[in-house]
Amino acid sequence: MSTKNYEVAVIGGGIVGCAVAYYIAESGLDCILIEKNDIASGTSSRCDGNLTIVDKDPGFDSHMSLVSQELIEDLHHKLNLPFEYRKHGSILVCDNDDEMQAAADWVKTQRESGLKFNVLDQKDIRNESPFFAHDIPGGLECETDSLINPYLFCYSLIEKAQGSFGLDVKIQAEVTNIIKDDDFTIETTNGNVRAKKVVNAAGVWAPFIGKMLDLDIPIIPRKGHILVGSRQEPVMMRNVMEFGYLMNKFGRERIADERTAEHGVALVLEPTESQNFLLGSSRQFVGYDSSIDIQVIQTIAKRGLRFFPKMDDFKIIRSYTGFRPFTEDNLPIVSDVEEVPGFYIAAGHEGDGICLAPVTGKLTADIVNEKSETIIPKEPLRFNRFEKSKVLS
Ligand SMILES: Cc1cc2nc3c(=O)[nH]c(=O)nc-3n(C[C@H](O)[C@H](O)[C@H](O)COP(=O)(O)OP(=O)(O)OC[C@H]3O[C@@H](n4cnc5c(N)ncnc54)[C@H](O)[C@@H]3O)c2cc1C
Repeated sequence: MSTKNYEVAVIGGGIVGCAVAYYIAESGLDCILIEKNDIASGTSSRCDGNLTIVDKDPGFDSHMSLVSQELIEDLHHKLNLPFEYRKHGSILVCDNDDEMQAAADWVKTQRESGLKFNVLDQKDIRNESPFFAHDIPGGLECETDSLINPYLFCYSLIEKAQGSFGLDVKIQAEVTNIIKDDDFTIETTNGNVRAKKVVNAAGVWAPFIGKMLDLDIPIIPRKGHILVGSRQEPVMMRNVMEFGYLMNKFGRERIADERTAEHGVALVLEPTESQNFLLGSSRQFVGYDSSIDIQVIQTIAKRGLRFFPKMDDFKIIRSYTGFRPFTEDNLPIVSDVEEVPGFYIAAGHEGDGICLAPVTGKLTADIVNEKSETIIPKEPLRFNRFEKSKVLS
């Protein structure tokens, strides 16, 4: 019996793979999504759900996020299953006057590129939430930022793509080898799949898929811890980060105590739709070790109390870790691969994969369909921007 030959196989059922499969199937191609466990069982269920520009570098980085925010608004209307989409904007708070000055400069630059940023003073911050410490000098806001539940979003994309565009989904199927002849044979623990084109959307595991075709994909895991606080009274409606988060993310110098610096901790507080809250986060290069480190948890809690001292008597109900797929220039790889025609990569989104999943999905569909005009420029995200011999360690 001959095996079906798909036009496209997408490997990895995280938020990026789901968005890629959605837009490819929507474009009319016969597509299958292959996932080794269940949908959203990787980083996309061990993270926050912020679609933010507030933490993006001005320029291309911000532009990608803005396009993604527009796409998510569109998907909010098109998809059948709700995914807790909330568009309240987000805020970034400062710890001291130096950060306040840097925040004012950040707002100026972002506004010059047409983005909806505003400076917030001490009174504005107090009006945001009664839980804030009184000595916070101020911060800034980005009006267009939003929140989703990434886990529900993955299932919502899949439900629509299966029901309306004929997407096939194969779960509990770990890809173990890929053979390239005229097309691709993808060997999995749950049978083989044939496809003319393959998209590697395996997040921090993308390098292992790359190795199957002798490719070095320079992505490494950057671990993050999150604490989940239980509902008491609403803390606030929008996502909050501290200015130091930008310093950690972009690897810039930051004044912080030893533990905070060592664990790469900066405040992120996300209110969930049920008004529990997610408190994070940390950034560490410790390989694929997903265990909880109690010292990191303590550092995050301490940082939370700096900004929200009244949280002292709130209950923390659990904690978890996830791996951000890190690239050295803080941009994802969304690209064809010259060495292996028909093979594509959509991975390496570090702390931005939730935000950038929609634009990544659409851009990948444009590239796979060989469109001359793509939704955003594809050059900055090309795989060949990395030196061939360089593999991060
Ligand atoms: C603590 C933390 C907080 C974060 N907060 C945010 C945020 O607020 N906003 C934001 O934009 N981003 C955030 N991120 C980043 C975001 O979560 C990631 O960038 C995103 O989830 C990556 O999605 P992905 O689909 O590339 O990877 P994943 O979700 O990991 O999906 C990859 C999938 O590939 C599968 N796979 C791997 N190997 C194989 C194989 N051999 N065969 C078949 N399938 C395979 C895995 O099982 C997995 O399901 C955060 C990350 C962390 C860790």
